[in-house]
Amino acid sequence: MEDTPRSLRLQIAVAGRTNSGKSSFMNLITGQDVAITSPIPGTTTDVVEKAMELRPLGPVLFLDTAGIDDETELGGRRVERSRRALDRADVILLVTTPGVWAAPEEKVLAAARERKTGLIAVVNKCDQTSPAPEFLAMLKEKTSFAPIVTSSVGGNPEREKALPQLKDALLAACPDDFVQPPPLIGDLTTSGDVIIMIVPVDKQAPKGRIIMPQMQVLRDALDHGVQTLTVRESEYKAALNALKAPPALVICDSQVVDLMVRETPQAVPCTTFSILFARLKGDMNLLAAGTAALAKLSPGDPVMVAEACTHHASEDDIGRVKIPRWLAQKTGGELKVKVASGRDFPDDLGDQKMIIHCGSCMLNRRETLRRMTLAHNAGVPITNYGMAISYSKGVLERVLSPFPEALETYKKALK
Ligand code: SF4
Repeated sequence: MEDTPRSLRLQIAVAGRTNSGKSSFMNLITGQDVAITSPIPGTTTDVVEKAMELRPLGPVLFLDTAGIDDETELGGRRVERSRRALDRADVILLVTTPGVWAAPEEKVLAAARERKTGLIAVVNKCDQTSPAPEFLAMLKEKTSFAPIVTSSVGGNPEREKALPQLKDALLAACPDDFVQPPPLIGDLTTSGDVIIMIVPVDKQAPKGRIIMPQMQVLRDALDHGVQTLTVRESEYKAALNALKAPPALVICDSQVVDLMVRETPQAVPCTTFSILFARLKGDMNLLAAGTAALAKLSPGDPVMVAEACTHHASEDDIGRVKIPRWLAQKTGGELKVKVASGRDFPDDLGDQKMIIHCGSCMLNRRETLRRMTLAHNAGVPITNYGMAISYSKGVLERVLSPFPEALETYKKALK
């Protein structure tokens, strides 16, 4: 379970004032000294992450943030990092102490409401003063969930009291799409079907393994009793010919989408890993509509390429080199491309004409949706690498056809 990727864990941000006992509370719950705790305010300088198994919820990731009220210069940077942690949180725990609720707590409440993220109040340090019933009622009214009443001193007995309260609260507050995420291929196949996955093994492929989207599709196929035939693009035709009946679905890496479309009989549905992830991680229809805006770009238009991981860019980099090149061919001239990598997705999208986001395989659904919402609210069309590549190779409609609603949305947006 320790191997579960971060993007698949329920992400729980622990927020609150400097020295409200956030880190001690997290230590109490995880049973480990993972955050830096000190009686000196502002000791937590960065977002500290701790992964654990919290049955029956499953794998979770706690994000211990800096004090929301830290007004020092260094604090400004800490608060900015904490704000980004709230962007990806599925649930926020707001740690306070008996009777304490003012502007900093209201700020966290407003951030949770803006992000439509469940907020649970944790009243800490109750060994020192008991919280008044009216205070607890006020917290429940503001957050819609019963507050957790605890003390982070006292070790195991306190942990045994706090853990069941926390699990109940998390179950009530965690988003429906975490409990039941959109399907990957489950609704496109039936048990007993055979599908083909086309996985290029080029110099960009990691050594000795396949990448996460391919692994997840493979696992989803196993979960649904679907048989998979995994081949490189050079073996695809032979694999098709070797089957007694046509496959129920073909899925490829976007980089070989033109080859897949060319060689796949018209009656066989085909799509890309990236398009499957557009639905799993985000809002597929919004991305489909956004892709249509690529047709309206002119040379010189500012376009932001957003990549969720930071990595050394190769000369053949997909986001920085290949997609801009393909789009320039389609548009008739170079675009003004700016790259935002890692967690640096700006709140202010300025005068960007378009955002082309990576496949989000390392982000959770909430953070991906948050980025899409920011783009949508700013009126900036957003697409993902997979859709942009399929568009630039002229095969988007074919690979969207297993998703009639998204295809329709794309066609309407083109008009
Ligand atoms: S940059 Fe995006 S698509 Fe690539 S590995 Fe990271 S999250 Fe996945």
